[in-house]
Amino acid sequence: MNFRSPIPDRRSLVLALGIVLLLAGVASAQSRAVRFGRLWDGSKVITDAVVVIDGDRITAVGSGSAAVPAGAAIVDLRKYFGLPGLIDLHTHITYYWDRKPGTRPRGTPRLPAVTVYLAQHNARKTLETGVTTIRDLNAGSDMDLAMRELIASGAMIGPRMFVSGAGLSSRPNQPLNAENVASLVGARVKSGVDWIKVFGSRGSYEVVDGTQTVTFEEMKSIVDAAHAAGKKVTIHSYGASGVRDAVRAGADSIEHGADVDDETFVDMAKKGIVWVPTVDHNRYYIDARDEFGFAPGVEGPLKDYIDRNLESVRRAVKAGVKIGMGSDAVYTMFGQNTRELEWLVKAGMTPVQALGAATTTPAELLGMGDRLGRIAPGYFADLVAVEGDPTTDIRAVLTGVSWVMKGGQAVVTRQQ
Ligand SMILES: [Zn+2]
Repeated sequence: MNFRSPIPDRRSLVLALGIVLLLAGVASAQSRAVRFGRLWDGSKVITDAVVVIDGDRITAVGSGSAAVPAGAAIVDLRKYFGLPGLIDLHTHITYYWDRKPGTRPRGTPRLPAVTVYLAQHNARKTLETGVTTIRDLNAGSDMDLAMRELIASGAMIGPRMFVSGAGLSSRPNQPLNAENVASLVGARVKSGVDWIKVFGSRGSYEVVDGTQTVTFEEMKSIVDAAHAAGKKVTIHSYGASGVRDAVRAGADSIEHGADVDDETFVDMAKKGIVWVPTVDHNRYYIDARDEFGFAPGVEGPLKDYIDRNLESVRRAVKAGVKIGMGSDAVYTMFGQNTRELEWLVKAGMTPVQALGAATTTPAELLGMGDRLGRIAPGYFADLVAVEGDPTTDIRAVLTGVSWVMKGGQAVVTRQQ
C-alpha cells in the first residue's frame, strides 16, 4: 500500500475502533459478565454482583444491571453465591487408582506417562469441588511437572498447579546431611519445581508415628539452600518436635502436626508461617480403610491423631496462626478436597475465616496474592458458584458447588 494512500490500513482501523470502543465504555468482543445473587470477593459480600471478564482475567467487579457492560455476554448465576476459585495447599494428584477389583490404591505398577494421563480424573474431581489451584507435594518421575505443563497449556483440564517434585526425606540408603542437601535442592530447582517439600517425620497413611527424621540443622540447611535459589519450603511433620524445628528453621509452611506447643504457635504467628493441618485426611483413611486393606483396628490410632491434630488447630486459631486448607488428597479422596473446611470451622474459625484459609491465605503463600484468591480487577477469572450462603454455613461449599470457572473458562457446569 502506498504510504500516501488516503485509505487507512487494516491495523489503523482496528486500532481506531479499539479506541472508540474504549472511550464509549463498550465491552470488547470477548467481554463476559457473570452475575451472582451474592458474592464474597475475598474480603466482603457484594449483593447483585457483576464480574466482568476479558480473556482469562477479571476487569471489573460491580453491582446491579448498570455494572454490565453493553454488549457483554451474560452468564446469569443470580440463583447462586459467588466465591473466588479455591486453593488446596496439599494434594497428591498423581496418586491414581481405578478401583479395579482385586487391586489396591497403592502398589499397582504403571508407566509414569500412563499415570499422568489417568490422573486427569483426579484433576476433574478436584475442579468439581470448586478448587481451581493446587499445591502438589510429592510425585516421582516428574509426573507433577508434566501435569502442570499440560494443564497450563490447555491440553489437559485441571486445576492450576504448583509442584514440589519428589519430597526430600532421610532414608537409610540416602541420609540427608549438610553436604548433600544443597545438591538435592539444586537438582529439584533445576528440574523446574515451584516448591521444596521435606518429609521431616514419619507418619503417612495408617501410620501416625510422629518420630522426627530430619534434624533442625538439616532442615535449616535445606531452607537456606532453597531460599537462596528463590524457592519456598514446606515441611511435613506429624509430631510436635518436627513442627517446632521446622518453624525455627524458617520453613514457609508446615504440613500436618499434633500436640504442637503454644510457644511454637506464637513463633509461627510472629513469622507468618502458614500451617496446613490436614485434619480431614485421617478421616478419609478411616472411611477408606477397606480399600487400602489397612489392618483391623486402624481407626483407633487414626481417630486419636485426629483429636490431637484438631486440638492443636483450636489453639493455633486462638494464637492467630495463619491456617491454610490442605486436603492431602490421594487416590479416591479427590472430590473431597474441601471437607477440611468443616474441621477448620469446628476448630473455631468463622466460615469467612475458613474461606480465607482456602483463598487469600494460600494465594499469598504461593506468591500469587495479586492474581489468585480474590475476585477483583487484574485477578485470574477463577470463580465458583455455590447454592446457599457459605459465609454463614461452610457446608454450602462442601455440597453446593454448581458451576466453576478457571482462567475465564467454565470447567464445571451443572447449575439448575
Ligand atoms: Zn501429603
